[in-house]
Amino acid sequence: MNHPREIVAYFSMEIALDPGIPTYSGGLGMLAGDTVRSAADLKVPMVAVTLLYRHGYFRQKLDSSGWQTEEAMSWDAQSFCHELPPRVEVSIEGRTVQLRAWRYTVKGNSGHEVPAILLDVDLPENSEWDRRLTHYLYGGDSHYRLCQEIILGIGGVRMLRALGYHEVCRFHMNEGHAALLALELLDERAHWLHRESFNEEDVLAVKRRCVFTTHTPVPAGHDRFPLEHVSQVLGRSDVFTMHQVFCCEGELNMTYLALNLSHYVNGVAKKHGEVSRQMLTPRDTEHHYQIDSITNGIHLATWAAPSFVDLFNRYIPGWREDNSSMRYALRIPLEEVGRAHEAAKVRAVEEVNRRANADLDTETLTVGFARRAATYKRADLLLSDPQRLKGIASGTGRLQVIFGGKAHPRDDAGKRVIQQIVQMRALLGPDVRIVYLENYDWEMACLLTAGVDVWLNTPQPPLEASGTSGMKAALNGIPSLSVLDGWWIEGCIEEVTGWAIGETCPVDATPEHRANCDAQSLYQKLERVVIPTFYQRRDDFLRIMRNTIALNASHFNTQRMVQEYIAKAYFE
Ligand SMILES: *Cc1c(COP(=O)(O)O)cnc(C)c1O
Repeated sequence: MNHPREIVAYFSMEIALDPGIPTYSGGLGMLAGDTVRSAADLKVPMVAVTLLYRHGYFRQKLDSSGWQTEEAMSWDAQSFCHELPPRVEVSIEGRTVQLRAWRYTVKGNSGHEVPAILLDVDLPENSEWDRRLTHYLYGGDSHYRLCQEIILGIGGVRMLRALGYHEVCRFHMNEGHAALLALELLDERAHWLHRESFNEEDVLAVKRRCVFTTHTPVPAGHDRFPLEHVSQVLGRSDVFTMHQVFCCEGELNMTYLALNLSHYVNGVAKKHGEVSRQMLTPRDTEHHYQIDSITNGIHLATWAAPSFVDLFNRYIPGWREDNSSMRYALRIPLEEVGRAHEAAKVRAVEEVNRRANADLDTETLTVGFARRAATYKRADLLLSDPQRLKGIASGTGRLQVIFGGKAHPRDDAGKRVIQQIVQMRALLGPDVRIVYLENYDWEMACLLTAGVDVWLNTPQPPLEASGTSGMKAALNGIPSLSVLDGWWIEGCIEEVTGWAIGETCPVDATPEHRANCDAQSLYQKLERVVIPTFYQRRDDFLRIMRNTIALNASHFNTQRMVQEYIAKAYFE
């Protein structure tokens, strides 16, 4: 096969490639997919590597009490991908595990292709247990996880070589999950140079090729494995003698491995860059990692609702090729923005009513809150004082709220948040109607981020690294009402692109105090600004809607983001 000499290999544990392929859990996978889609648009020579996950993440069911259960979400690889001929192997606990690969092709808007390589170990040659290693995304314990990371990192590099990708100029680790690829690159180099083991020089050479993006300050997002476990599974302990690269206090920390073996490291928003620099500096040293930031974006053509695609085609020709031209949205007449939104709202409300057997209408101010149900996202903040919320709705203007999002299968605290919201429904009465939508996924995200009136986000700062659903909303003319964290610090201009929550709340408060303060601020903003603007100052609201497109969609897109990666990390 003929491949361009300078190619970027983008490794990610999850990539949302197609609405019919359930191999993503949330923002990380969506971002990876949008990155690949924009890379294809920009004709970046890139190949993406991930795992196949035959049974997906999971389908979320909520019982009548609101408790989440999970079902496998199997999909047919053959109807989306084609199998590639090579086989490679990795060693797991001394067993040889065979890997094959499937190719899914991402096509850019001018026809350039970025192949996504999906690794699969479900082969008759492998043991029953090993065959399950590429069945589920985040579907097992830490041992299952480490085995998957070996397949992704080590197996991924071997598969690329077998497919003829010999000239990879950059290996991009999208989150630390892929960091074992750097170990394989070290081994490769030592092997080429006929050495028994790698040395400092190899470390420098590998570093020049690697790029690392860290995605969360939440500790659970950073994989750590006891060294003993790692030696047993990898079948070697020689690597840990290189302390400055591999070791931190008896464990292999994938984040530090990626940091130590990358020449360019970034967080996913300006604030997240700062937070990561502080968080990842080892306590007992003066050593600071150089951590830059590249703010996330979304792939505009993927997330624009049909009525907005039509509007953009008419008023901003070429918007897909040049995302920064979205600033010309300021030329679109306000009534046209209103009509496009109305169409998107009708679609979303009808679908939500159908799926949830609900009775939402299209006149009422509709608030959307949908994302993974991790506790730091504080989905329940809006409902923390139900009496107050009822009072606001009956005094100032009615509300309906659409919630959605899956909790990680082993996150009982996240599941309890969902349950509490579901159980709040009866308590809130007719002025605040709420729905918790089951199985929030790509398709529902498209409908909701275009079809509500206000997009709500209430994370506990500084834990929201970026957030991207608010960007999808902005593209479809939906202002955010959000705590100032992640991308919103950059995207919020008060009463111009939306509204901030808790801007005067103390940053060093305890989580309980902070939640209290943010909730007060949220209620005040709703009562004094958001609800009155929506019901009584229609043109002001429409102007804000148009601003979100012009000011935020023109910047918070993956076209701009990938161009930053090109300039700072890929071809610098
Ligand atoms: C965009 C998206 C997310 C990410 O939402 P955040 O705002 O980053 O929390 C999660 N899930 C789905 C299905 C999405 O489309």
